[in-house]
Amino acid sequence: MMRPLAEMQVEVLERVPLLDEIEVSFAEAIGAVLSRDVDAREDLPGFENSAMDGFAVIAADTVLPPVDLAVVDDVAAGAVPPVTLIGGTAARIMTGAPIPAGADAIVPVEATEALQGGRVRILEAASVGDHIRPAGGNVRAGARVFDAGLRMRAVHASVMASMGVRPVVHRRPVVAMMSTGDELVPPSTPALARGAVRDSNRTLMKGLLTDLGVEVRDYGIINDDTKTFESVLDEAVEGTDAIVTSGGVSMGAYDIVKIALRERSSVDFWKIAMQPGKPFGFGTVNDVPFFGLPGNPVSVFVSYEQFMRPALLAMMGADLLFRDRVRGVLDDGVDTNPNKTVFLRVTVERDSDGGWHARKSGGQSSNVLSALAFADALAVVPVGTGRVEPGGTVELEMIHWPEARSRREVLGDR
Ligand code: AMP
Ligand code: MG
Repeated sequence: MMRPLAEMQVEVLERVPLLDEIEVSFAEAIGAVLSRDVDAREDLPGFENSAMDGFAVIAADTVLPPVDLAVVDDVAAGAVPPVTLIGGTAARIMTGAPIPAGADAIVPVEATEALQGGRVRILEAASVGDHIRPAGGNVRAGARVFDAGLRMRAVHASVMASMGVRPVVHRRPVVAMMSTGDELVPPSTPALARGAVRDSNRTLMKGLLTDLGVEVRDYGIINDDTKTFESVLDEAVEGTDAIVTSGGVSMGAYDIVKIALRERSSVDFWKIAMQPGKPFGFGTVNDVPFFGLPGNPVSVFVSYEQFMRPALLAMMGADLLFRDRVRGVLDDGVDTNPNKTVFLRVTVERDSDGGWHARKSGGQSSNVLSALAFADALAVVPVGTGRVEPGGTVELEMIHWPEARSRREVLGDR
């Protein structure tokens, strides 16, 4: 019996721990998840200020332009304007500078003309509030700005920087990783002996983990020997938050991850009703979450995406755990096993009406790593579907949003 994908996903999320919280610098917070709600302590900006370089005026003075006003002050950003404007006067003002008392509008420099003798000619009528940024227009004192569970991007960290509120986040996980397989040789191996395979999974796993902001401990290639594996595992659990292995979890005689861990009641091995990624091991080793991914490179990716990425995000405290999906048309159609959720590797493109279209990015065998590299999305064919006709609708789980507008499109031959 195969285990439903969703059921396995729930179990993984239920069993992984939430990592503790730490205060970090603004820059370090990027990629981490807020452990507490963030409320504003003060208005930002804290004072009314000018949105333009120009002249602070009393709008009523400018009703019938042109009008000439006496320039009584010059207010730079950061200055505290000492004067109070009275009828017939203006203050030169720079973007971001506080509005002088009495002024109720800004006339941009482009709508003025400098005159001799400290006077300015206003060429266009101003209305009350023109080009004035209100206090609290960015962030209001007391308002909830961010919720706990938000995975911070540069823009979020910069908002917190503007507020002067140090980010408190969940610690980033430390993940130990290893590849298993007697056939594996280092990627730098120039000529492969017959039967040898370059270890691509560790490069893949390391990259995926690093993208999530995880700290990786790399234990290298482990031979298909249970004793070796167990001793490396004992070392790997020390001071780590999760362990991930590739290979050795299916039905083969040398599937040593399964053979070594089957004895420990805390790790189980399943056949998941998904393709690729059917064999999967999960549990804990000395209370450390353990992810036994299959060996086939595409399976590594899909299993990582479906189980480990959400789990790591959950450990980091994230509220949102799964990639978003869009609906699209599968232009080339497919025949799949109706008993499994099938993840096809596809490229996506938008037609002129804005609709998404997908095509297989290459061979759909779980060893065809190149097709994964060309893919933008995983097209999801749910259990019970089997065949999708050309032109049929699928959900596209975006694993990469393609960039657009080539240098040539923008610059031509320049
Ligand atoms: P296994 O799950 O160990 O039976 O491996 C399944 C397939 O994936 C075999 O064809 C392996 O050679 C291949 N494989 C396993 N580990 C890796 C790896 N680290 N890099 C590339 N291919 C791998
Ligand atoms: Mg193997």
